[in-house]
Amino acid sequence: MSRAAFVALAAAAAAACPRPLRAGDDADPASQSASPALRVLLGAGDAQPAPGGGFSFNGRPYRGAFQRLPDGTIVNVVDLEQYLYAVVPHEMPSSWPAAALQAQAVCARTYVLQRSDPRRAYDLVPSEADQVYAGVSGESPAGRAAVDATAGQVLRFGAGYASIAYSSCCGGHTEAAADAWSGGALVPYLAGVPCPYCTQSPNYRWTVTVATTDVAARFAPQLAGAGTLRDVRVTDVDASGRARTVTLVADRSVTIKGSAFRLSMGPRVVRSLLLTNVRADPRLATVEINGGGLGHGVGMCQWGARGLAQLGRSSNDVLSFYFPGTSVGSF
Ligand SMILES: [Zn+2]
Repeated sequence: MSRAAFVALAAAAAAACPRPLRAGDDADPASQSASPALRVLLGAGDAQPAPGGGFSFNGRPYRGAFQRLPDGTIVNVVDLEQYLYAVVPHEMPSSWPAAALQAQAVCARTYVLQRSDPRRAYDLVPSEADQVYAGVSGESPAGRAAVDATAGQVLRFGAGYASIAYSSCCGGHTEAAADAWSGGALVPYLAGVPCPYCTQSPNYRWTVTVATTDVAARFAPQLAGAGTLRDVRVTDVDASGRARTVTLVADRSVTIKGSAFRLSMGPRVVRSLLLTNVRADPRLATVEINGGGLGHGVGMCQWGARGLAQLGRSSNDVLSFYFPGTSVGSF
């Protein structure tokens, strides 16, 4: 999920009433029982009905039906639950415990219902801007089982849907939405919790070493006229321990936002903002960055969900742990 999408969701969730759905437009989500049809924009390409049901798009099998928009692009009209069959396995490995996959299914379903909008020609795109969706070829038996076991379940807060956020591994403490995304609404159930359950993640702790000249090159505009970069330090952290600011130590030191540091270094190089130790080695002309976790850390920690499930906890336990104050209900 993109940051922009999350901010939009947070704003939508802050409203007293959730956004109307395509099916049963005016219904209270609590009283709605039929699974709505989603419209997923597949893009330009060749669509053909399949003999056994569904259709093929550019040679790939899809469930449901297709519509051709005036501009020629193809939209897949598909039952929400069947859409989720293909989404859950992409968001979380199918080999993970059932309760973790079920928590992921509830998150994915809630996210979709927030995004549905009858005023647009489609509800979702099939990429990471929403959720990756590749049709039947993206499904797995475990993913289908998780969707079926949680059929119709959504995460609710008050009268509306909860805003959904999740990332791979929080490194030991999830992040507050308000700290992660300036401009986002204050979300009481996304304030950050200690998470001791994700230690098995390969990214629970990580170290990366980069050349000091490489760091300097990435921040050349900020360091213009500041002299030679000698060190990098975390100079302010938020309540979860994530870097609010990073200072580039030179003849004239420059302080930048932690998020800007991660973005410029590369989100896969600096895997999170939970930077446990950053230090320069002048002899080797390198900067060693130690950190914890992978991703923004807001909401559900997926490796933590796995850990909780391995301890025998249910999907509802997982969701109430990472989204305290919310409840699982039906849409
Ligand atoms: Zn965690």
